[in-house]
Amino acid sequence: MFEKILIANRGEIALRVIRACREMGIKSVAVHSTADADAMHVRMADESVCIGPPPSAESYLSMARIISACEITGAEAVHPGYGFLSENAAFVQALEDHDITFIGPRSDHIRIMGDKITAKETMKALGVPCVPGSDGGVGDIAAARTIAAGIGYPVIIKATAGGGGRGMKVARTADELEVAFRTARAEAKAAFGNDEVYLEKYLQRPRHVEIQIFGDGKGRAVHLGERDCSLQRRHQKVFEEAPGPVITPAMRAEIGATCADAVARIGYAGAGTIEFLYEDGQFFFIEMNTRLQVEHPVTEAIFGVDLVREQIRVAAGLPMSFVQEELEINGHAIEVRINAERIPGFAPCPGRVKVFHAPGGLGVRMDSALYGGYAIPPYYDSLIGKLIVHGRDRPEALARLRRALGELIVDGVDTTVPLFEALLAEPDIQAGDYSIHWLERWLERQFG
Ligand code: ADP
Repeated sequence: MFEKILIANRGEIALRVIRACREMGIKSVAVHSTADADAMHVRMADESVCIGPPPSAESYLSMARIISACEITGAEAVHPGYGFLSENAAFVQALEDHDITFIGPRSDHIRIMGDKITAKETMKALGVPCVPGSDGGVGDIAAARTIAAGIGYPVIIKATAGGGGRGMKVARTADELEVAFRTARAEAKAAFGNDEVYLEKYLQRPRHVEIQIFGDGKGRAVHLGERDCSLQRRHQKVFEEAPGPVITPAMRAEIGATCADAVARIGYAGAGTIEFLYEDGQFFFIEMNTRLQVEHPVTEAIFGVDLVREQIRVAAGLPMSFVQEELEINGHAIEVRINAERIPGFAPCPGRVKVFHAPGGLGVRMDSALYGGYAIPPYYDSLIGKLIVHGRDRPEALARLRRALGELIVDGVDTTVPLFEALLAEPDIQAGDYSIHWLERWLERQFG
């Protein structure tokens, strides 16, 4: 086992990894920018290294500085968290060149899944069902027209290098296609430096259902059921639950086995998520994330496993500590993402937190790096915490969420807590009856 792990991240996810390290008796090294000198992950780690000024490009995204920090501290492995360098194949390669272990999959798997066209082709070949669309990239508007006419409108144009909900444009009719196509390409070029796009059928009322998989890197893999992440704003998840309200045990077993089998066949190592749109009993692959997800705690809650611990074990060459038959679902879990944002516009509002009180009690987990007196810096993501509740069933989880939100105190900055309080009063949310478009429509009705 490793003696020391460096965490190439900040905020709640850095704390999450430090916690796993501590329970495993592994020393942790935090890295931080000058803006994060007073951050909780720096305080909680065994050691810390300042790796640069506030902009991420010069600190959390600097491969050279992170590798230097490993060398200075003697860290043998790096956990990337999510975001930043977590899905950067060149980073994994650079670590390998310096004999540092990356806690995650192989660089070639990251590369394949990081390019959405290649990912889709790979998954299709492995027997995973995909959204109907173009086979590969679409180079010009004439080709786009032919393909769109073939699959039928509406269609969505997506950047092969896309991520974080960016680089997607919908064309509802043939008239809208040209503008959507050109805009998608221009935006993809500007955002990702790659203007290759592809076309997919735009599903009208799907749910976002994703399967958590875990591989040992030696040809064995399991699935840990699904998470429903349909409540989204601008293609970004805000509320996640497991198990999915509409997924039956038989459907879970079937799609789960398909996913586990697919990643086992490529020798995938560590945690991964295969994302689907789900409509009328059918699953359609959209992308795979080759890392730990923000919403992983809902899976941990219902299966009683520590996914970060498993990631570390597998990276150290140990077997997974469970087999498929041992993985049983217990109850229902929900996560809400608490952002420092002002509703209704969702404008980020960094600033000083005067008082912070985390909710507690049975079945409540608050993953946050906040503390009273902490100044949220303006340079990074506005996620300031995740509130995860676990109950014996969905109604109990909802009641617990309502209760826990009422206990949470974040004085000094605006947060998205009022959004969740309002959502919990909605009959559709109580019934679990929502598609990926539900939240945007609801926000429009509430705030125009
Ligand atoms: P990203 O990598 O940017 O997160 P994804 O491919 O995972 O992009 O898609 C993000 C979200 O965009 C999905 O959860 C869904 O809400 C929406 N979306 C993507 N593809 C489609 C599609 N074919 N039809 C309808 N909605 C889609």
